[in-house]
Amino acid sequence: MTISRDAVLEWLKAFAVAIETQKDYLTQLDSEIGDADHGANMTRGLKACVEALPSVADKDIGSVFKAVGMKLISTVGGASGPLYGTLFLQMATTSNGKLELSLAEWVATLEAGINGVLTRGRANLGDKTMIDALSPALVALKTAAANGASLSEALRLSAEACAAGRDATIPLVAKKGRASYLGERSAGHQDPGATSSAIMLQTIAEVWGKA
Ligand code: ADP
Ligand code: MG
Repeated sequence: MTISRDAVLEWLKAFAVAIETQKDYLTQLDSEIGDADHGANMTRGLKACVEALPSVADKDIGSVFKAVGMKLISTVGGASGPLYGTLFLQMATTSNGKLELSLAEWVATLEAGINGVLTRGRANLGDKTMIDALSPALVALKTAAANGASLSEALRLSAEACAAGRDATIPLVAKKGRASYLGERSAGHQDPGATSSAIMLQTIAEVWGKA
């Protein structure tokens, strides 16, 4: 099984719908330890991405990811716009020219994207950011691929690890982003960016894993 360009387009639309559906929840989480804009930021950015998809719908996966990354950077302010934008721009480098991705290629693509977020945001594991959800998702994906798991099984395990990483942000004290201004008071709240990342990996598992 591989991930086709059309599956990538389908996923981006599903991701936008899922984020919009959970907009108020993301905003609620960001109101607890941030400035209550994460739901609005992500919804606005992904809506702009979906509107831009027809112009790249016949191109390769790298071109699709590049268009998404540039849209996110130009339409989403704050920390998450440049970070998610970088994720997609870096994912575009490994998927450049490809009309489909194998599981191994998706591993390399997600890894490139997360490395971009790490370079740009300089967050460490445990800093209470989206990295705390994304890094375990990548580890689980890699492990599953190395163990010979099917694409759908590997994506499911990756989404589960991402959700576990999201939950594990609750007791953490934020060291990066706005939540870090709260110091110890940020503990006891789930990180909004880790939550949107878990939605991202969940929709990937649902759309790419259904075949
Ligand atoms: P802002 O904090 O500018 O209002 P958002 O509310 O849209 O932007 O996004 C906040 C999320 O961004 C946080 O929950 C966190 O997951 C993520 N984030 C913030 N700073 C960093 C960073 N340096 N590295 C990785 N993720 C970060
Ligand atoms: Mg915010």
